[in-house]
Amino acid sequence: MAHYALIEAGGTKFVLGTADEAGNIASRHQIPTTTPQETLDAAVAWFSAQNRQFDGVGLASFGPLDLDRASPQWGHLRATPKPHWTGADLVGPFARALGCPVGIETDVNGAALAEMRWGAGIGAGSLLYVTIGTGVGGGFVSDGRLLAGLSHPEMGHFRLPRHADDMDFAGCCPFHGACLEGLAAGPSIIARWGKSLSELGPEHPGTDIIAWYLGQAVCTWQAIMEPARIVLGGGVMGTPGLLDKVRAAAVEAGGGYFVGDPAAIVVRPGLGINSGLLGALAVALDAR
Ligand code: ZN
Repeated sequence: MAHYALIEAGGTKFVLGTADEAGNIASRHQIPTTTPQETLDAAVAWFSAQNRQFDGVGLASFGPLDLDRASPQWGHLRATPKPHWTGADLVGPFARALGCPVGIETDVNGAALAEMRWGAGIGAGSLLYVTIGTGVGGGFVSDGRLLAGLSHPEMGHFRLPRHADDMDFAGCCPFHGACLEGLAAGPSIIARWGKSLSELGPEHPGTDIIAWYLGQAVCTWQAIMEPARIVLGGGVMGTPGLLDKVRAAAVEAGGGYFVGDPAAIVVRPGLGINSGLLGALAVALDAR
C-alpha cells in the first residue's frame, strides 16, 4: 500500500507523521517551530530516518502561503509577522530530500479536505470548515475541489452587524477592527471579559454574544456558498452549549430563507487529534 510523509506545520510546533492512503497513521513525531532552517532540517532528518520510500508528501501549514502553482514562490510563506519565516520555502527541502511529489495547502484547507473525506462531510457534496480559535480561518470544498481565488479564502475577515449589548468594543482585528475575527475569536473574548468563554461559564452573557456573531456568520456563509455541512472547530467552539446557541442564532438570522435542519448542517468536526495529519494526507493524495 502506498505510504505518505505528512507535515502539520504550525506556528509553535510541527507535527510529523506517516500514513497509508486509507488514513492509518503509522508513526508520529513533534518538533518545536524555531527557525526555518533548523525546523525543516529536523523534519527532513526524521523522515529520512524512517528508511522508506514515500509515495508523496503532504504539507498542511500555517499561512499566509503562496499557493499559485505558476508562481516561482509557490509553497513559500508570504509576509508573516512570525520572525524569520517570511519567504521560507516549505516545499523545496522535502521535494529534494524525499524525491516524490509534494502537495501543500493551508492547515484549514487541509482540515476541510480531511473532514470531507473521512469526517463530518462523509456523504455530503460540499463542506465548509471554519476554526474559531486565536483567529478565524476556513476552507470550502465542493465536489472534491477546494475553493481558491488569487489566494486561499479568508472566512473571518468580513464585517457584520453589532450585537446590541456589544456596541462599545472596537474589535481587535489589526486590519478591520470589528470583523468576525475581531469580534468572535479568542483574543476578542479575552479583551472584553478577561477570560475564555469556557472559564466564564454558560450563564455569562459573553456566550450569547459570541453565538449571535457566529450565527450571523453561518448565515453569511450560507448565502454565499450554501454548504451541505458547516463544520465549526477551534478552541472557542469547545465552550459548552455554544454550538446549540450558534444554530439557534443562525436560524434567527436567516429569517426562514435557508432550507435544511441546522443540527444536521452546522456540526462539530468528526476527526479528533489526528485531524491535522489527516489534512496533510488529503493534500498528499490530491497532489499525486
Ligand atoms: Zn479582519
